[in-house]
Amino acid sequence: MPEPDSTAARLARSSNPESIPMPEVTDPYLREQLEKRRAELNSAVSAAMPEAPEAPLLEILGEVNSALQRMDDGTYGICPTCNDTVEKERLLADPLVRFCLDHLTSGEQRALERDMELAAKIQRGLLPETNLRFNDWRVHYQYKPAGLVSGDYCDLISPTNVDGKLVFLFGDVAGKGVAAALLMSHLHAMFRSLSGVGLELDGLLERANHVFCESTIAGQYATLICGRAGGAGEVEIASAGHFPALIVGKDGVRKVGSTGVPLGMFAKSRYTIERVLLEPGDSVVLYTDGISEAANTKGEEYGVARIMRVAGERHGWVPQELLAACLKDVNSFSSGARQADDQTMMVIHRTDSAGISLDD
Ligand SMILES: [Zn+2]
Repeated sequence: MPEPDSTAARLARSSNPESIPMPEVTDPYLREQLEKRRAELNSAVSAAMPEAPEAPLLEILGEVNSALQRMDDGTYGICPTCNDTVEKERLLADPLVRFCLDHLTSGEQRALERDMELAAKIQRGLLPETNLRFNDWRVHYQYKPAGLVSGDYCDLISPTNVDGKLVFLFGDVAGKGVAAALLMSHLHAMFRSLSGVGLELDGLLERANHVFCESTIAGQYATLICGRAGGAGEVEIASAGHFPALIVGKDGVRKVGSTGVPLGMFAKSRYTIERVLLEPGDSVVLYTDGISEAANTKGEEYGVARIMRVAGERHGWVPQELLAACLKDVNSFSSGARQADDQTMMVIHRTDSAGISLDD
């Protein structure tokens, strides 16, 4: 099975904002966006009350004009206080920002904090329930942003009938912070609407990729696993450049690797479905790079092999305990080091009717 370590996949998984191919601050995209907004503002101003245009409209029009002027002067994206570059992610989210995060006015700082808290609240509201049960499936996950908001994505969509399949989605948007969180909510809405259409997984992923390519800007990627858990332990997995899913069985752990490139790279990407059969007691373990690449104080990475070992030694454990054991090991490994990236982990477990479950 193909390993997901293509250059493209690594690039997309990377969480270091410096290595993400973000458009340059003087990118034609931003100019185009600003010019489009100026045209819209101008028509809004003339449509409203040409003789007495509303002050807020004029104010923002002035800001757009001044941003375009700074692009002409070559000072766009440069913080006037420190002459350093303004964070590119913030320019993408709002092309009118002028100051770097370190040099916001106290009013701007408070407004930003309020916005971030609201964004975090909205994002938490998008998460599925943490202890989901569907037929003999039990799912548990942890979602832990490095900052207030996260670029990690996870969702669970239960079928409307008992014969249906449970859809699980798990991914990581390139980058961090607000821009990544916006893309995460975009993925959430897209899969929520597409999953009801009745497509096979490969078709679902292809359609989602197409929409994602059309609606995001160049350089915005997401790695993603899209799976379905059905009757008799059957699990289907399709992966767009994400880390291998780990199947924890009685006889060991095996990887189900990626079957395609990350979402948002090429509109015509194709994906294939891997099918695995889980016995009662088996689990699927999914994780983002915040887990597998968690660093210790010496700068060493945690690694997928260690997740496999820790999870493999705990076959048959209920998902809450399996997950807790894995995270405890990650935390003790990286103890003393800063959590550099969003950490998300999910366990999809087929219950062993003979065993004891926490839920029962
Ligand atoms: Zn500054």
